[in-house]
Amino acid sequence: MTTTTTTQKKVIGTYGPGSSHWVGDGFPVRNLFPSNGLQLEVSPFLMLDYAGPQYFTPTETRRGVGEHPHRGFETVTIAYQGSVGHRDSAGNAGVIHPGDVQWMTAASGVLHEELHDPAFSKTGGNFEMIQLWVNLPAKDKMSKPRYQGITKEQIPVITLPGGGQIRVIAGEASGAGFATTKGAASTFTPLNLWDVVLKAGEKVELTVPAGHNTAIVLRKGDVTVNGTAKLSGEARISVLSQDGESVTLEAAADSELVLLSGEPINEPVASYGPFVMNTREEIMQAVADLKAGKFGQL
Ligand code: MN
Repeated sequence: MTTTTTTQKKVIGTYGPGSSHWVGDGFPVRNLFPSNGLQLEVSPFLMLDYAGPQYFTPTETRRGVGEHPHRGFETVTIAYQGSVGHRDSAGNAGVIHPGDVQWMTAASGVLHEELHDPAFSKTGGNFEMIQLWVNLPAKDKMSKPRYQGITKEQIPVITLPGGGQIRVIAGEASGAGFATTKGAASTFTPLNLWDVVLKAGEKVELTVPAGHNTAIVLRKGDVTVNGTAKLSGEARISVLSQDGESVTLEAAADSELVLLSGEPINEPVASYGPFVMNTREEIMQAVADLKAGKFGQL
């Protein structure tokens, strides 16, 4: 007779933002990695900026980040408050509103701009987003750019037994008391991105594959991870071990958080600003290609 036991992932560490800065004039961000030293522990994820929440006054000009390139990875933007317009050299454009997600695969290279939507700029209001950078394996870094504009309505929502919810942006969510549910986004490597809301007093047990690097990012609230690590306030991250396959979250207050997990990409990382490749030569090639106009035109 065999018994199956589920082991909890171990909490490796809990961190706050390693830096707070502006991205352009539209994104006041707290960086939850890699500015605090987290790198290998969060592969395949490269960077996580938590923008806002912050109130913007009405203006006729569009705040944000003008034309800039990316190569070798994906940028994922989750909108919570406020709206952002995007336009890129692969011919894709769209506006993401609260609840929407933009999953942009830069891969071989795009030029794009990320600006507050004109309607939002005019009225002003609260602004809150997450931007996550997801690495691509070497074999896919020079593939064709892709754009997934995922609306709020397209993201499957799980209602948890305790009244909270999980929006399954990518991967497959499973755990105690709810049906396993597939996410909306297509990804190059196995990963999970879940947007989670828990009510005060709620406890949830989630299944996350062994072998996945895993992190819990608290937007706000008060959550204990696996009975040991306490995340409270705003903009905190707990990083968990690859070993183990369960994560228990217990909320002491209404809480909003993101769970990310993924199979690590065990390849060298060479990064320079908006380029993330495997070698220094590939970075120099990216710079040369940008100069030569090979990223196209906006
Ligand atoms: Mn960008």
